[in-house]
Amino acid sequence: MICARCAGDTRVIDSRPHEDDPGVIRRRRECVACGHRFFTQEGTINIAGMRAKRRRAQAAYLARLDPAVKAARVAASNLRRDAKIEAEETGRPLANVMRDWSIEPATRRRPLKHTSPPFPIPRANERSVTTPNQKTTECSI
Ligand SMILES: [Zn+2]
Repeated sequence: MICARCAGDTRVIDSRPHEDDPGVIRRRRECVACGHRFFTQEGTINIAGMRAKRRRAQAAYLARLDPAVKAARVAASNLRRDAKIEAEETGRPLANVMRDWSIEPATRRRPLKHTSPPFPIPRANERSVTTPNQKTTECSI
């Protein structure tokens, strides 16, 4: 675990089960470099359960969706599918087929904004690539 403040190495001061959930380990850590102290929690995540929950939520959303909106979305999806088949069979670019058929392209999702940490995180057993090798210069007086 690296320090959240200075990216230095940390050591565990205290380790105990969480008061509310014994399946979670709570660790008190201290940065060796700057002395910053913080807690970390270690536990397991039920990914299959999370996916099942998301599927149920999606099904519930579709169940209460206006049937007219649902039908319009299905029709638009089918039209895009047919345009893709048309493009593959004729060898024409998909964008041209969609333009000729007056199909709006599916909305693109914006990529997640990547925020890099304020410091370079060195990889284990690797020299920092961001710091160039410093050469000593001779100085004559
Ligand atoms: Zn630190």
